[in-house]
Amino acid sequence: MLSMPTACWLCRMPLALPAQGICSLCLRQLPIAPPCCPRCGLPALHIRQECGRCQLKPPPWQRMMFVTGWQPPLRDWVKQLKFSGATALSVMLARLFLLSWLAARRQFLLDKPDLLLCVPLHRKRAWLRGYNQMDDVTRHLSRWIGCSYAAAGLKRQRRTRIQHSLRASARKRNLRGAFRVEIAVKGRHIALVDDVITTGSTVGEISRILLAAGAASVQVWSLCRTL
Ligand SMILES: [Zn+2]
Ligand SMILES: [Zn+2]
Repeated sequence: MLSMPTACWLCRMPLALPAQGICSLCLRQLPIAPPCCPRCGLPALHIRQECGRCQLKPPPWQRMMFVTGWQPPLRDWVKQLKFSGATALSVMLARLFLLSWLAARRQFLLDKPDLLLCVPLHRKRAWLRGYNQMDDVTRHLSRWIGCSYAAAGLKRQRRTRIQHSLRASARKRNLRGAFRVEIAVKGRHIALVDDVITTGSTVGEISRILLAAGAASVQVWSLCRTL
């Protein structure tokens, strides 16, 4: 296991507690998301009620929570995590996740899930990279929140084309049957964890199959959300 750096990831000032990752000064300066709809996570006037888009066409999941928009420094860290997977980086990102979750709980009375699941990588991509970059982050998070984490709870059962090159309808077709639930989820409150949410079609498809398998509710959590 890599040793933890004892300096802030942003300003390089020494840290009292290495596991903090970034100092309290830099933490306060992190960009915060604009007021967003609690369900789809897109900018909205009201933060406690679902936006017009969601009222017309509700996404399959119940709530969305993310740390910031797709912008630095989170964007750079997400990219770094994907390619290097530094252990210290995943601890720091899990801490940012935890702080956002605590804030969302205070502000919006976000319910505590009882199970965390990660959006799975395809076996080939996981093999090329050697790991799922969100696995460590989710593991830390589940321990701190005090709920379980099923690392192998979801499987990608076939390869899908890269989503961002497709239109919305093709994206949905591309994802049908792409995932499988491997554990019993009946009656469970689930938070589905991903690094970045863009169109939401992947987490939408997974939420759909989780609810079809009897899950009581699904929240979607991500480090970044494209706004
Ligand atoms: Zn700092
Ligand atoms: Zn909405």
